[in-house]
Amino acid sequence: MEEVADVVIVGAGMVGTALACLLGKAGVKVALLDARETLLDPEAVGRGPADMRVSALTPVSRKLLEGLGAWEWMAGRRVSPYRFMQVWDTEGTGEISFSAEQAGVAKLGYIVENAVTQAALERGLKALASVRLILGARVTGLVASSDGDRCVHLADGRRLVAPLVVAADGARSPLRELAGIGVDAHETGHMAVVTTVRVERAHGEVARQAFLPTGPLAFLPLRLDRERHHCSIVWSTSQEEAERLQALSAEALGDELAAAVGQRLGEVTVVDRTLVFPLVQRHAQRYVLPGLALVGDAAHSIHPLAGQGVNLGLMDAAVLAEELLLARRRGVALGDERWLSRYARRRRGDNAGMLALMDGFRLLFGTHHPALTLARNLGLGTVDRLTPLKRLLLQQAIGKRGRLPASCR
Ligand SMILES: Cc1cc2nc3c(=O)[nH]c(=O)nc-3n(C[C@H](O)[C@H](O)[C@H](O)COP(=O)(O)OP(=O)(O)OC[C@H]3O[C@@H](n4cnc5c(N)ncnc54)[C@H](O)[C@@H]3O)c2cc1C
Repeated sequence: MEEVADVVIVGAGMVGTALACLLGKAGVKVALLDARETLLDPEAVGRGPADMRVSALTPVSRKLLEGLGAWEWMAGRRVSPYRFMQVWDTEGTGEISFSAEQAGVAKLGYIVENAVTQAALERGLKALASVRLILGARVTGLVASSDGDRCVHLADGRRLVAPLVVAADGARSPLRELAGIGVDAHETGHMAVVTTVRVERAHGEVARQAFLPTGPLAFLPLRLDRERHHCSIVWSTSQEEAERLQALSAEALGDELAAAVGQRLGEVTVVDRTLVFPLVQRHAQRYVLPGLALVGDAAHSIHPLAGQGVNLGLMDAAVLAEELLLARRRGVALGDERWLSRYARRRRGDNAGMLALMDGFRLLFGTHHPALTLARNLGLGTVDRLTPLKRLLLQQAIGKRGRLPASCR
């Protein structure tokens, strides 16, 4: 059985679903596929136990989600704004701090459970008649059809044909592989240890990042209680160290976390399971081919150090949607590679810059060399005093880089 659409999006994660909403709002006929069998239960998310996968969303991502009508619903579900950021080096004295006021915004960002963002976007899909969501759809093949369209094969024998197929199928993107697009992969050698904690002192809407000799440790402020005593932990460290941390009792892990940030938040109590994720930086060698475009983690996966992964992906979705809608207005085929290259040009440089920045940070802070320790202490201290450079870093952090698509302004 063969179905036809204007655009087939493979992967209904946050990025694929956002793209489907952006295109669906403009009446583009979209087939959105995912191997998952079910959608999230919107009544359950943001209420009971917190989803341990959280993302720091920038004000620019918020703007996009507002435009899609998702933000209003999310706002009542434990969205945790932060107004300050503190980054320091535990090996020395370097410290840099940012505030929303310095950036000229109300909030620097928002820590949001991934399930909340996902469920909000899924709710939006339901109102869009031109988007067909197909769950339990595992893609196993991608071929070019005789008239230049792309045909996606599903494991159950179904086929979908469209002038454009978008790979939004995550960091290991089967579609990217089927299309023969290589990646520049960089084993960071790091794992991310993730959990949720209760801290003795209120977090005060500060996102904290400590650079330890073994890697960066983030305490991201959550709004699970009125007094603001919960944080999400992302501790990036070597595989060996991650395994050691995961094997610790909750009490011992809490003690290590408290000590690692110099007791800045007092006693730390681990209140959830501890998960470990491998961290690999990948960048696809191409973002587009005739009739194919890569977005989100399928195009780039980045160290969570800067909390930028999903923000970069949402920006891909916004720029690709903007370019596709312009192509439609001008009568250009949606799969036209030359037109798709406009998307690649607008996004590749920004994503590459962020990947390089993260690598630089990781290398600089992952060293014991005394000269580098001195340099980074001087560096952080100097950056903290240099207003123009600090302003530039702030603009990066809040997502205001380059030409933003209209949906994010
Ligand atoms: C520990 C950790 C912390 C992070 N912290 C942050 C943060 O603070 N801020 C931030 O912005 N980002 C963060 N990220 C990154 C962020 O989670 C990702 O960038 C984001 O989830 C990617 O979204 P996506 O929609 O591109 O891909 P995914 O969320 O991976 O979605 C891919 C979808 O494709 C589907 N799929 C896969 N294969 C197939 C197939 N063959 N057929 C059909 N469907 C398929 C999957 O079922 C899935 O639903 C973090 C990541 C990690 C690991």
